[in-house]
Amino acid sequence: MGHEPVGPRASPDAAVAGTAFYDAVEAAAAALYLRALVDVPPDVREALRQAYERERHSVSRQLLGIILRNIEIADERRTLVCQDTGTPIYYLRAGTGLYLDGARVADALRRGTERATREHSLRSSVCHPVTRENPQTNTGYRIPAIHWEFAAGADYLEVLCVPKGSGSESMTFLRMLPPADGVAGIRRAVLESAVEAGANPCPPCIVGVGIGGTADQCVALAKRASVRRLGTRNPDPEVAALEGELLEAVNRLGIGPQGLGGDTTALGVHVEHAYTHITHNPVAVNMQCWRGLRATGRVRADGRTEIET
Ligand code: SF4
Repeated sequence: MGHEPVGPRASPDAAVAGTAFYDAVEAAAAALYLRALVDVPPDVREALRQAYERERHSVSRQLLGIILRNIEIADERRTLVCQDTGTPIYYLRAGTGLYLDGARVADALRRGTERATREHSLRSSVCHPVTRENPQTNTGYRIPAIHWEFAAGADYLEVLCVPKGSGSESMTFLRMLPPADGVAGIRRAVLESAVEAGANPCPPCIVGVGIGGTADQCVALAKRASVRRLGTRNPDPEVAALEGELLEAVNRLGIGPQGLGGDTTALGVHVEHAYTHITHNPVAVNMQCWRGLRATGRVRADGRTEIET
């Protein structure tokens, strides 16, 4: 008996993904993983350049100049922007116009990550949590981490690869506040987290904030927010206003580039939210370092692939 695909429920006239599709997903994962390590997304480059122009503290301005030079050298030599190859995470948006097998997609993402690690001699940053055995593949049980979302009517699989750096991953915070603390409590939690994080996540950062949902969902929302493109806003106007307010407040802390003081601690503050239990007011914070570490591509049923540049 054959296996039923375990991917999203596709529409009746959906294109059926075949071998060419899964091969292309593997190739896309390999390309995106490498790209996220050697390239810096254009919005992040621009935000760093603007921060450099704006910075009033001489040491911090110098540091931002070094960061920009670091990016130039990585461009010239096509080498890693930073040594950390991170923990591979894939955020997928599966179109309902595509009939696919989720288990085969997960396997292709794992193979692609391993291929990039092998072919480009990348450091393997992934190990067993108890024995610390490192398989030298940047993969292992439940890694890469994979998150699924669905896009009504789309006929492609969108793949966002995030090799999450250790410094920024370590600076993850969750507070299960009481509802009585309200939005003031959310603001305080974000600022306290930024202070506690200090120089550890390699600021200037993109600060991801999750509010609402369950505890695990809230942390996932914070991380998802940290990899949203700079310049985008939460579609809910109340939440979007909070993003602007928090950005100003975090930058007023004066932590600055690499924690040495200055005007730019955050390049952006992004908030993602979910409805929550009436007795809860969860807030999570997850940082993304100045590298921006992300790359996106789309794969269609016949294997055609577009990598976002
Ligand atoms: S936090 Fe980012 S920039 Fe800092 S060491 Fe890790 S990957 Fe590199």
